[in-house]
Amino acid sequence: MLDDQDRIFTNLYGMHDRSLKGAQARGHWDGTRTILENGREWIIEQMKASGLRGRGGAGFPTGLKWSFMPKESDGRPAYLVVNADESEPGTCKDREIMRHDPHTLIEGCLIASYAMQAHACYIYIRGEYIREREALQAAIDEAYEAGLIGKNACKSGYDFDLYLAHGAGAYICGEETALLESLEGKKGMPRMKPPFPAGAGLYGCPTTVNNVESIAVVPTILRRGADWFAGFGRPNNAGTKIFAVSGHVNNPCVVEDAMSISFEELIEKHCGGIRGGWDNLKAVIPGGSSVPCVRGENMKDAIMDFDALREVGSSLGTAAVIVMDQSTDIIKAIWRLSKFYKHESCGQCTPCREGTGWMMRVMDRLVRGEAEVEEIDMLFDVTKQVEGHTICALGDAAAWPIQGLIRNFRDEIEDRIKAQKTGRVSAVAAE
Ligand code: SF4
Repeated sequence: MLDDQDRIFTNLYGMHDRSLKGAQARGHWDGTRTILENGREWIIEQMKASGLRGRGGAGFPTGLKWSFMPKESDGRPAYLVVNADESEPGTCKDREIMRHDPHTLIEGCLIASYAMQAHACYIYIRGEYIREREALQAAIDEAYEAGLIGKNACKSGYDFDLYLAHGAGAYICGEETALLESLEGKKGMPRMKPPFPAGAGLYGCPTTVNNVESIAVVPTILRRGADWFAGFGRPNNAGTKIFAVSGHVNNPCVVEDAMSISFEELIEKHCGGIRGGWDNLKAVIPGGSSVPCVRGENMKDAIMDFDALREVGSSLGTAAVIVMDQSTDIIKAIWRLSKFYKHESCGQCTPCREGTGWMMRVMDRLVRGEAEVEEIDMLFDVTKQVEGHTICALGDAAAWPIQGLIRNFRDEIEDRIKAQKTGRVSAVAAE
């Protein structure tokens, strides 16, 4: 388990003072100017050496992403955009940073922007996060007043402005190019890639979009050293990580621990165990609603990192762990996710617009068992036709939960169909 002195987020639960004074007392904004004086190449090299992979779900190496930004400006400004949309069901980690520990994010914005020569940074926060926006804006105002950001930020000679933009509450605006469209005042519809944002992003200018947690860990990594951060977790899965555990555990919580912690340790140490004990564990969605579920017995010994969860047929995603015990109607649970993705599809590409609705309607019948057994394969086939054939990853996000269900719980689906045909009520879902 992570020692207290190795926690990056020292006020995750809001037990301490979140103001600038409190943040400084906990070590934030310490030596920021010296960090900037080390130069942008040094910062990027350190970030690469730390092994930090993006915390928004895709796990792309952060330092490498930063290095894609142009070294010399062609006259266009560069931007850092922080993705604080956090709309993936189950995911509630960034909100704790924004409402309780906002200064580490603001300091991270300054350092990351400097490394990419962005004089302006936008934080795009989801529509539902009203209190979080207020807390973050108050912290931004404090940082301006103290001269930490703004003109000559931290007396470094670098001018830096930070803006907070409030979305209207659409899941798709968490997709980076839809987010940029929304920030520009347009409908939040994903763009075709290429061009990638590093070439033409916000207002057609070089842009990097990073997750809140990815940026908020930067100051501590640079203060304590890349080696310190790289010392946690297995190779290629470095660092500390915030996990958000919900569902059928005794104490659902958001907690920072070392990457590559075992699922069992995470649940036993922080969540008080599975409700009703380990034998009562049915399934786990380990990385937010878009990743495939895993059967409980395959999850117990799983390692919570990017590579290990791929080996059990799922993904770390946002590390939002949704635990389901034997009382769960797993078909209905996945149907609910299908309904969500159908609702949130922006509708501009056919496989997603039509496919999400089609998949949801079949799932709807599977919940009641009103289907033919052959339709299970047909549904799987349709998920494969949606996956990878859309403009953005929402198509994949809609397909994967259903694939996970069919791979892991086909017996249960078949059983329900047979029960419906024979009138065996106990196996049919409750309405
Ligand atoms: Fe829109 Fe879905 Fe296409 Fe993404 S995959 S662009 S959400 S229709």
